[in-house]
Amino acid sequence: MSSVVLTGLGKVYGDGTRAVTDLNLEIRDGEFLVLVGPSGCGKTTALRMIAGLEEVSEGTIEIGDRVVNEVPSRDRDVAMVFQSYALYPHLNVFDNIAFGLSLRKLPKKEIERRVREVAGILELQDHLRRKPRHLSGGQRQRVAMGRAIVREPQAFLMDEPLSNLDAKLRVQMRAQIARIQRDLGVTTVYVTHDQTEAMTLGDRVAVLKRGILQQVGPPQELYDRPVNLFVAGFIGSPGMNVLGATLEVGDDERYRVRFCSQSLDLPDSVLRERPALRRYAGRPVVLGIRPEDMEDAEIVGAEQGATLRSSAELVEAMGSDVLVHFPVDTKPVTTDGVRELVSDGGVVDPGPLGAAGGTVLVGRFSPRTRVFEGQSIEVRVDTARLHFFDPETGSSIW
Ligand code: ATP
Repeated sequence: MSSVVLTGLGKVYGDGTRAVTDLNLEIRDGEFLVLVGPSGCGKTTALRMIAGLEEVSEGTIEIGDRVVNEVPSRDRDVAMVFQSYALYPHLNVFDNIAFGLSLRKLPKKEIERRVREVAGILELQDHLRRKPRHLSGGQRQRVAMGRAIVREPQAFLMDEPLSNLDAKLRVQMRAQIARIQRDLGVTTVYVTHDQTEAMTLGDRVAVLKRGILQQVGPPQELYDRPVNLFVAGFIGSPGMNVLGATLEVGDDERYRVRFCSQSLDLPDSVLRERPALRRYAGRPVVLGIRPEDMEDAEIVGAEQGATLRSSAELVEAMGSDVLVHFPVDTKPVTTDGVRELVSDGGVVDPGPLGAAGGTVLVGRFSPRTRVFEGQSIEVRVDTARLHFFDPETGSSIW
């Protein structure tokens, strides 16, 4: 086991495409780090450089205590698990798992012992004589995992290993990967575009946009304190609602955030947590509200927070909760600014424009809500949990 340290890592492909820029990351011994970002952000390129499958253009990669830039892939002592399982179709499960060990000419007894142990961990012991074509997708993926585990490498490198599985299996395998990684304690770099996978698996999550690292931290930190609109929009599902607004200060010195006819009073805690917000008094801001920080006012009553009025445009019952879509007026000019900003990268969709030039917000309500489509609603917003961003830069205002 070892740490993996990336310093100033960069990649420019032969055709001039820049895929990764000045990536600095220290993946600690035994840590599970998830690299996440939209398609084309450079995560696979970064992983392939660590694996030694892609040449490094700039910077260094250290695995353990040695710089491996010039070390061939097979000598880096890392094990890759790909999205396509890349199993040998003519070999049975046992031989597929044993393949790397046989190449290394380990004694037969030792190979037998290690394969059986790994098959036990992955619950494949009853399938050892089967060929891959006689296995389900989930079983194939476990064989691919087995092949990585059995080598006892210094690090696992996984590239979207679950994306070929159906939704239910993905959840099962996700839990299994988390358990195995914890049990084995092997340093792991895991690439995905799926924020749920990132949040549930990662000790820390690194968010990439166009080859540039935006933020790295524990999942909860990225959720609670995203550094910019891009991270805010990427982490959380459904994504954070964002809307153009103005920060106002009343004669009573109280701050409120206004969008056209409605406004939300801010509790003191927001200004304590975000002292820089005072500099935006009287100026436009981008307001972020997570769907889960809103609730049907009929259910929560007059607890802490503030109320928005609207009408339910669409109601989606999810079982565990209800997603309610409702329009609010926003200043068109600011909204345009927001649209331009958030469409950069194509991740945050501010929602379709309503008739009044507004934004459609999504609230995640309790299943006890009785809201129906077309109904007037009052929405309770947990104003202590609002997010604010600079409309020019998209950076969080702290
Ligand atoms: P995805 O989730 O779609 O796999 P990704 O985040 O893993 O995307 P990469 O595959 O690393 O992204 O690609 C990053 C950028 O580099 C993209 O713009 C891609 O088109 C480009 N790219 C990838 N491989 C090559 C190559 N061999 N030659 C030129 N450009 C490449």
